[in-house]
Amino acid sequence: MFVHNKRLQYTVRVAAPNPGLANLLLEQFGGPQGELAAACRYFTQAVGEDDPGRKDLLFDIATEELSHLEIIGSIVAMLNKGAKGQLAEAVQSEAELYRSLTGGGNDSHTTALLYGGGPALTNSAGVPWTAAYIDTIGEPTADLRSNIAAEARAKIVYERLINVTDDPGIKEALGFLMTREIAHQKSFEKALHSIQPNFPQGKLPGVPEFTNVYYNMSSGNDARGPWNDGSDWKFVEDPQPAVDGGDGLATVDVSADDIEVLKAMASRTASDTSTDLTTGADLGAGQA
Ligand code: MN
Ligand code: MN
Repeated sequence: MFVHNKRLQYTVRVAAPNPGLANLLLEQFGGPQGELAAACRYFTQAVGEDDPGRKDLLFDIATEELSHLEIIGSIVAMLNKGAKGQLAEAVQSEAELYRSLTGGGNDSHTTALLYGGGPALTNSAGVPWTAAYIDTIGEPTADLRSNIAAEARAKIVYERLINVTDDPGIKEALGFLMTREIAHQKSFEKALHSIQPNFPQGKLPGVPEFTNVYYNMSSGNDARGPWNDGSDWKFVEDPQPAVDGGDGLATVDVSADDIEVLKAMASRTASDTSTDLTTGADLGAGQA
């Protein structure tokens, strides 16, 4: 059951309307690293989770992300307050209204013009939100890693948004939202490591002869570091196909009937290597 508390999780104090900034903040409302994506990601994982600890954690964080969605949406709504009334009531001249919406070279068509000042479920470029942003695979040792990465990306987007606004109240609220993504990363990391073992993901181990091998797939200025050097690694300087020791060819057994069909197709589409025709847009049309 969800019950709505009428107050926000964090107080929002916006100094003045700014439709351009509202547009940028939509990135965390309806963008891939935004709060709706985070809420839906953890909510669906929570519903499918059987472990009581992880289920509770995922529902708590999903619910908090909805609270963040409410905060960021409220900031967008405040930033559009002026534009919303002006667009609806047309009290200014056209030129003045145009300037107020596009002042400073901003592009506020999604928040202001298209959605009339309401927070839209789009990213900052106006691309509609999609469930394809959520990459849940249904295995906690993989999903928790993906969740950590999603929180890391959200943290970075908040940091960039903080850097483009000089409104102290918005900076403070965004700082809270950014910080919560750090806390969520910590919880997900602890939850991941409370599953032992958690690497590699799933149940099947890797094939031993390929698990600790680094293939040097280029030549010249090869960098060495802990990712390919040391006792963990066998560094293969000049890998040759096929690394399994086989002939490196792709084969399949097909039925006799299919062999006949494939032969017919090969014969019909065979290249005649003896021809040297003049080609253009149409065969024989002239020299290019
Ligand atoms: Mn959040
Ligand atoms: Mn989060």
